[in-house]
Order: sequence, then structure tokens, then C-alpha cells
Amino acid sequence: MREQFDIHEHRHKLKQLRDSGDTKLFENRGDVECPVCQTVFRRIFVTTNQAVQFPENDGSRFCVQRQSERLAVFRH
Ligand SMILES: [Zn+2]
Repeated sequence: MREQFDIHEHRHKLKQLRDSGDTKLFENRGDVECPVCQTVFRRIFVTTNQAVQFPENDGSRFCVQRQSERLAVFRH
């Protein structure tokens, strides 16, 4: 089993763009790797909400990791 991505562990390399309590968005300022595909991601979105709607994007691929209390989406 892959280990859960811990934001706090990589906090110094992530720039927070948004925080609405239930959801947070960070930009990768370093070379933090996605835990799903092991390549560097551009942004990470984490939410504790049960349902999430994503706006239209530029079509870039993304990976999803289900964690115990939240969902983490890594956009590449
Ligand atoms: Zn990935």
C-alpha cells in the first residue's frame, strides 16, 4: 500500500493558494512527487467534503488519493 501524502511533511515546498476550511489548494514550489504516479505534480487539492465538483481545466492529467479523512487530488 502506498503511503498517504502528508502536506505538513512537505509544507515548506508548497505554497498555499486557497483555504476555505474544508478545502485547501497548494502549489508545488519544489520537486514534491505525487504519491500515486511518482512524478512531480503542479498543484494539490485536499478536501474533507464528501462530494466535490471540479471546474473545467486545461485538460492536464491528475491523480487521486483517498485518505482516511480526506481526498487528495494531484494535478500534473
Ligand atoms: Zn500523479
